[in-house]
Amino acid sequence: MPYSIYVPNRYILNVSTLGPFQNATSLHNDRIGLFHGDITTLSVDAIVNAANLLLLGGGGVDGAIHRAAGPKLLRECRTLHGCPTGSAKITNAYDLPCKKVIHAVGPIYNVNDPADSEIALRGCYRSSLELAVRHNLKTIAFSAISTGVYRYPTADAAHVACDTVREFMDSNDGPKLDKVIFVTFEEKDARSYNLLLP
Ligand code: ADP
Repeated sequence: MPYSIYVPNRYILNVSTLGPFQNATSLHNDRIGLFHGDITTLSVDAIVNAANLLLLGGGGVDGAIHRAAGPKLLRECRTLHGCPTGSAKITNAYDLPCKKVIHAVGPIYNVNDPADSEIALRGCYRSSLELAVRHNLKTIAFSAISTGVYRYPTADAAHVACDTVREFMDSNDGPKLDKVIFVTFEEKDARSYNLLLP
């Protein structure tokens, strides 16, 4: 049961001893993909933004998504009145090629309480997947939530992302999704996911 012995910050040791994406079956592998590049170019059903509490745009991937979607996205975001850390809300995508944007609010990484940060990051992935299913969206692309200015260690974040998605795919709602794509923008993120996903 390799995933049950996961310890935040130590996962590289686990991966090298236990191999990539443990417990994954071909069912998982067929439905999980990696894309290296700009998430705003993807014509999937939903892209997941790494937003902040106010949902009023920002830097990083959030800024890129707002720029590409146009000003109507900010107008709709204003009606949402923010979103708690570890959760997500959904909007239209306007000028983006995708159908919907899911805005997930990741944790600012807390070195003194990594377990708390992990709970919040898991919440982001789970809430986003639940929203996708609730809105009948079949393909969903995730940005690497919290790994930019929020400083979540990339390798740990990639592990949390893969593990939460795998868990969801094994749940009753899992078969309702056709494809989950992890988007890596920087080399460090690409390396982490390449290690985890066969
Ligand atoms: P956070 O505040 O949650 O850390 P950031 O936007 O700072 O959010 O970073 C989250 C991740 O998004 C980082 O890994 C960063 O490299 C990545 N990123 C930045 N721009 C883009 C983009 N256009 N497409 C996909 N990923 C991006």
